[in-house]
Amino acid sequence: MKIEHKCPVCGSENIQMFFEVLEVPVHIGILWATVDEARDCPKGDIKLAFCRDCGVVSNIAFDPALMEYSQAYDNSLCYSACFQDYAESLASQLIERYDLRNKDVIEIGCGKGDFLVLLCKLGGNRGVGFDPSYEGDSGGSEQAGDVKFIQDMYSERYTSYKGDFVYCRQVLEHFSDPVKFLNMLRRTIGDRTDTVVFFEVPNVVYNLGDMSISDIIYEHCSYYSLGSLAHMLSSCGFNVRDRDEHYEGQFISVGAVPGNEVDDAEKVCIDDSEGLAGYVAAFKDKYNRKVDEWQDILSKAGQAGKKTVVWGGGARGVSFMHMLNNSDQIKYVVDINPKKHGKYMAGMGQEIVSPEFLKEYKPDIVIVINPIYTNEIKQNIKELGINAEVLDV
Ligand SMILES: [Zn+2]
Repeated sequence: MKIEHKCPVCGSENIQMFFEVLEVPVHIGILWATVDEARDCPKGDIKLAFCRDCGVVSNIAFDPALMEYSQAYDNSLCYSACFQDYAESLASQLIERYDLRNKDVIEIGCGKGDFLVLLCKLGGNRGVGFDPSYEGDSGGSEQAGDVKFIQDMYSERYTSYKGDFVYCRQVLEHFSDPVKFLNMLRRTIGDRTDTVVFFEVPNVVYNLGDMSISDIIYEHCSYYSLGSLAHMLSSCGFNVRDRDEHYEGQFISVGAVPGNEVDDAEKVCIDDSEGLAGYVAAFKDKYNRKVDEWQDILSKAGQAGKKTVVWGGGARGVSFMHMLNNSDQIKYVVDINPKKHGKYMAGMGQEIVSPEFLKEYKPDIVIVINPIYTNEIKQNIKELGINAEVLDV
């Protein structure tokens, strides 16, 4: 495909390409039934560019035609107790801050709807969730208590659904044209300027600065900092009210209200752009060092006859495996989600197994994909009676 050397968010040509990783699996949430299918899965390139004008990092090689969300897409993280705790504390925080009690809330990109149901239950709210991948029984829309689900993309067709609170969690980074989406959303809100909007996305500073490289995945078209996210919202007619970091810095969020006039919003300057430019400049070398370190660990383990498994069969696991490019050394990936067991990881084709499988396999090394789960996983391993070295990615 032809790559346009301009920022997909603001159109500027003042961009700096700084990193590429080629032929990565496109749908990392999709599980494959056989090794061959997993290895032959659709692939695309990641070429990251930093925009010096809007501060957004984007994959300029992203091809929307390769993406196709379906119900096989299972990115549900709710199996982890740790992630569940985060969802509950975020819901309580939102209810307190925006007084979400007996209100109408709209979630765009609600996935399976767990968070929307939680927000409605805790605050006594009425919810409408939009997601083309929503798995309802009726196929179209579905009502569960005070929550309704619509199996479709949110668009101006749905302007009649009015929310006091409209939010997107881990969604904006999947849009190849987020500005078009935000402008559309601003139009649907119209003059209801007491509506609050809220967006949560992965934190690019965490991805690049803390080398959380397994979050660099094909499904993410763009990567935001608090400054660039706030700036983008303000340029689409929203007045930014709150900026927060969550989940040990892995996620960021911005809360905003519509400006009186679409063109009248208070423009936010990108106050963290300089720091981000530093992370961008250092990233490629840091990435290569990290790959070398892991390859060294694996080859030493192999020479010593040690067995290594990876814990975490989600998006991050797929990109970590791709980075290592070593399917001889790691044959199994552990995941607590029973729906994934017996399936194969996109790209490298490792089999996904249950934690109980480790009792029989007896690994010497367990690599934990997301350090936020390390304590939880160490506890699991102890309960299984396994004596393995635990390493964080
Ligand atoms: Zn830009």
